[in-house]
Amino acid sequence: MFSYFNETKITGTQNMKNWSGYIEWQPAQVQYPGSETEVQQVVQNALEQHKKVRIVGSSHSFMPLWTTHDVLVSLDEYQGIVAVDQEQMQVTVKAGTKLYVLGDLLAQHGLAMENLGDIDRQSIGGTIGTGTHGTGIAFGSISTQVVKLRFVNGKGEVRQCSATENPSLFKAAQVSLGALGIITEITIQCVPSYRLALQNLQEPLDLVLRELPDRYRNNRNFEFYWFPYTDKAWTKSSNIVTDQADKVNWLNYLVEYGLENYAFKLLCELAYYFPSVTERISQFSASAIAPVRKVYQSHKVYATQRLVRFNEMEYSIPVEAQAEVMKAIQALFERKRFRIHFPIENRVVKGDDIHLSPAHGRDSAYIACHAYAKKDPLPYFKALEEIFLAHDGRPHWGKMNTLSHEQAAERYPAFGTFLQHRSEEDPDRVFDNVYLHSLLGS
Ligand SMILES: Cc1cc2nc3c(=O)[nH]c(=O)nc-3n(C[C@H](O)[C@H](O)[C@H](O)COP(=O)(O)OP(=O)(O)OC[C@H]3O[C@@H](n4cnc5c(N)ncnc54)[C@H](O)[C@@H]3O)c2cc1C
Repeated sequence: MFSYFNETKITGTQNMKNWSGYIEWQPAQVQYPGSETEVQQVVQNALEQHKKVRIVGSSHSFMPLWTTHDVLVSLDEYQGIVAVDQEQMQVTVKAGTKLYVLGDLLAQHGLAMENLGDIDRQSIGGTIGTGTHGTGIAFGSISTQVVKLRFVNGKGEVRQCSATENPSLFKAAQVSLGALGIITEITIQCVPSYRLALQNLQEPLDLVLRELPDRYRNNRNFEFYWFPYTDKAWTKSSNIVTDQADKVNWLNYLVEYGLENYAFKLLCELAYYFPSVTERISQFSASAIAPVRKVYQSHKVYATQRLVRFNEMEYSIPVEAQAEVMKAIQALFERKRFRIHFPIENRVVKGDDIHLSPAHGRDSAYIACHAYAKKDPLPYFKALEEIFLAHDGRPHWGKMNTLSHEQAAERYPAFGTFLQHRSEEDPDRVFDNVYLHSLLGS
């Protein structure tokens, strides 16, 4: 299982690593184009020299999506806003732009993204590349906020697509794993900037599971974490406020930066060196959840700091199956002692019509499991993956999974359509690597 991780692992002095440190690779060269023309030049050179090209954003994915022995392209030198259509509230950005930069830039125009995930270190190109999502039954993944895209395909041509211009290509490019080409510009449908009030609570898991449809309906953004070996959940509900002052105080700071990072790091080390205390650590962490309330600009509320390194697997399942799947996971923890104290994260995403989106054609619950970066995550992830697959699960493309080409073809109704676009846009497979070859085929 996960064989392509080992195949792409290279030893050497100048290895690049993903965020968790699990994946290492060594490209022959890294290119930093500063314009679309320079991106075209990189692809044309690679074609002439029969080299492969992969694109990296912030390398926050847990899958070997960017590993290559040839040319790695980073758009770190290609960031910022290209155009703002204030009337339509549409903003065109360079694809290398990091989300934390983008949030502040949009705020300067009185605009914001309608929803975001729980960190803001990713590039916007990488964010949509894997279908990154936040939570909220009214909101699709971040790719659904995109209304137009430009990319350089495997022939070195600039392609443009939207809901009205090459619409099927657009549905392929909205979540493309970097397999169609290098996205250069992304136009985002924004909303007027807003402020969110976030409420953290510790609640009984059974109650949360019973009330899930109501929680999703009654909160703009709702998510929860279940702490293994306990009956406790940490719930996070966010709603728009217009009449409340900002509330970001020392208690928020203590919880977010202190407990969630430094204290948690200590607990991870303790559990790593003394595995027999894992259960008590999970119980202690659950009891430490404070009823913190925070009010602030939306992009600052979504974003948390993640200083403790971990590996992660996340699957999307039909939202109706969420409580059943969580009960199956609880039962599994009773049968098997995984020695895992990271809480299991639960979010919800509105269905969409993007070819490779895990939420294609159905409102989806996303369930994520994490393991401390020093620990071998595979036995734990594999056991949970069996449960997800048995419930029509589809993986988050950026997170660890073993989905094969055949399984993907069964589970993604528009998989074949995506492959056709790949053949048209990248006939010579300039953007291929070991993992994409195994997932998408030759
Ligand atoms: C701590 C942490 C928290 C996270 N939180 C969330 C979360 O809340 N929700 C969620 O859904 N995910 C989450 N993720 C996963 C993360 O959002 C995705 O893996 C995302 O793809 C990473 O963005 P990146 O810029 O690092 O892209 P990379 O990981 O560098 O690349 C991802 C993919 O996009 C492609 N790509 C990048 N740029 C371009 C481009 N310009 N053109 C074409 N293809 C491109 C790459 O080739 C690759 O296939 C989290 C990950 C970490 C480590």
